[in-house]
Amino acid sequence: RMEANLRAATADCVMADGTRIEVYANVGKVADAVKGVAKGAEGCGLLRTEFLFLDRQTAPDEDEQAAQYQAVATALAGRPLIIRTLDVGGDKPLPYLPLPREENPILGLRGVRIGLRRPEILRTQLRAILRVRPVGQCRIMVPMVATLDEVRAVRDMLDQEREALGHAPPVQLGVMVETPAAAVTADQLATEADFLSIGTNDLTQYVLAMDRGNPDLAARLDALHPAVLRLIRQTAEGAARHGRWVGVCGALASDPAAAPLLVGLGVTELSATPPAIPDIKAALRPLDKAACAALAREALAQESAAAVRSLLARAGMAAS
Ligand code: PEP
Ligand code: MG
Repeated sequence: RMEANLRAATADCVMADGTRIEVYANVGKVADAVKGVAKGAEGCGLLRTEFLFLDRQTAPDEDEQAAQYQAVATALAGRPLIIRTLDVGGDKPLPYLPLPREENPILGLRGVRIGLRRPEILRTQLRAILRVRPVGQCRIMVPMVATLDEVRAVRDMLDQEREALGHAPPVQLGVMVETPAAAVTADQLATEADFLSIGTNDLTQYVLAMDRGNPDLAARLDALHPAVLRLIRQTAEGAARHGRWVGVCGALASDPAAAPLLVGLGVTELSATPPAIPDIKAALRPLDKAACAALAREALAQESAAAVRSLLARAGMAAS
């Protein structure tokens, strides 16, 4: 029986009607990739590269980064690896990257905004990623995008670095949807991005205008708020217009009860914390896409996160 459970956990996630959902792992260090694979991850949907940059006095150089990304890629044994470019600033300062003091760091220089202001940091990272083998295993994902120009600027940098390495082959470039602007203009971003991945942690913070670090607001900072769900829907619709896939890599993707809802909203990849992976697959397998879409329609019409949550609880009982 344990063996049967293990087989089910590591098998692909195919729903009752044949719909294929990719269940990936969020990774913050090499050990997470090992754990993810053991739990049945089909790839890494979010490598938080901050782990290499935080708690030290100087930035990791290209060689060190390449070695670390390669270690994660190797641990994934050929499975896709989506590497997020450095997402610092805001609440994650670095001693060797002096930035102006800000009144509102969460609305200031963070994510791709830093990468474009300090291009040598981003270029070094892109070169390190391009060195990972086998070619084609890595994809690149850009955090905190708010406008199309930012994606174009990163794409240009990537093309230049590929050229400098002697025509390195193309790499997929994806965009994180973490700002309301990105969700609302997903149809435009999808013309430049190869895929979109929704960061529900930041998206919830920004759409509800509630600081994700404020304990007094924590109870109301709920990614199931209908406003967040409507933005997920809009993201999926915009991306579908250009044939791009949409994933979720925020914490909402690690909630097995939310998985049918996300699939119903048009999401086809879920990147979760490794321990949640078997339960997510088990929650989806007995369902079909049409039932998930009906659930999503009902959820979008709810008036609060609490109402959505109880809807999901009832739906969960019906499925089992
Ligand atoms: C998110 O914002 O949902 C996300 C995945 O990024 P992080 O939690 O690292 O900000
Ligand atoms: Mg984020």
